[in-house]
Amino acid sequence: MSIVVFAEQRGGTLRKITYEVVSEGKRLAAAAGDSLKVLLAGSDVAGLAEELKKFGADEIAVANDAALADYTTDAYAAVLAAYIQQENPGLVLLGHSAIGKDLAPRVAARLDAGLVSDCIDVKFADGDYAFVHPIYAGKAIATYKVNSAVKMATLRPNVFPVEENAGAGSVVDFSTEIPAPRTKVLEVKQQGGDRPELTEADIICSGGRGLGNPDGFQLIEQLADILGAAVGSSRAAVDAGWRDHQFQVGQTGKVVSPNLYIACGISGAIQHLAGMGSSKCIIGINKDPEANIFNVADYGIEGDLYKVVPALIEKLKEVKG
Ligand SMILES: Cc1cc2nc3c(=O)[nH]c(=O)nc-3n(C[C@H](O)[C@H](O)[C@H](O)COP(=O)(O)OP(=O)(O)OC[C@H]3O[C@@H](n4cnc5c(N)ncnc54)[C@H](O)[C@@H]3O)c2cc1C
Repeated sequence: MSIVVFAEQRGGTLRKITYEVVSEGKRLAAAAGDSLKVLLAGSDVAGLAEELKKFGADEIAVANDAALADYTTDAYAAVLAAYIQQENPGLVLLGHSAIGKDLAPRVAARLDAGLVSDCIDVKFADGDYAFVHPIYAGKAIATYKVNSAVKMATLRPNVFPVEENAGAGSVVDFSTEIPAPRTKVLEVKQQGGDRPELTEADIICSGGRGLGNPDGFQLIEQLADILGAAVGSSRAAVDAGWRDHQFQVGQTGKVVSPNLYIACGISGAIQHLAGMGSSKCIIGINKDPEANIFNVADYGIEGDLYKVVPALIEKLKEVKG
């Protein structure tokens, strides 16, 4: 048996989630005594296979085709489904990214495979996999078994550690018939700025209604600048028109798991916690000592964010020299 990992790249660069999923794939392959196979799809992406070799896959299959230059569901689903049919693996892993969320259910439906999405852990015991996934906005954790021959899972970004492994295997070509696309990418508008993408960021500084006005985000940006962080937002700030929806963290926004999440003027509503509760360290800054954010925060700072955040920025500048 084998484990297949879908290696996500965008614009010829491997995404951080790919390293996480391949590392987890290797760990599970070792536990199950399976081989690890990685599918890399795109146009002009053969060079990326070298980078992937560091993670100890037994085989890296490269599907290099001009039709795969832009991500389209039809083309990528055809390639991944064909590769799975060829390899007949026991387990297929993808990242729970925008692409993974789109691709995994399509491929699972085509192959009649059971899929557990947004896993925060995958265990192998007694010859079977158990998939751990938060439910009810993170209030409970469910563990699933999948009965289909091919089992599929998407893994939450920033949860699984990246680990390089010896044992780089072979790089092989993979090709299949790619159907004529039913959709066409006309234009890609990339959000400007050097900030890390929210779901991949190690540190996130988020602002909420407690900022009082849209200009308050300038302070959050300053804090983020000094920490090299991404900037997030609560839904209240998005609904007020202070921030674009792409920055919203929570049940109806993005799910993030950074090493450090700084919530400024955010009360900690359950729907917000659903998106950031799995952060490794949470700092809450709030003037209300009863705010729910303090129930989940590792460090709570009770005070006016307009006093606390500038002081924090000054201290960080001092520390950073
Ligand atoms: C179906 C559904 C889905 C939802 N999805 C999401 C989601 O994805 N993400 C999300 O965030 N919300 C979501 N919500 C909304 C959620 O319930 C809350 O309304 C929202 O998270 C509140 O945002 P907030 O914490 O910024 O605002 P508030 O709850 O108003 O909190 C503002 C906080 O700022 C503090 N404050 C005020 N002034 C200062 C100051 N000067 N210094 C320090 N602290 C100060 C206050 O004490 C307060 O705790 C959803 C709701 C529903 C019903």
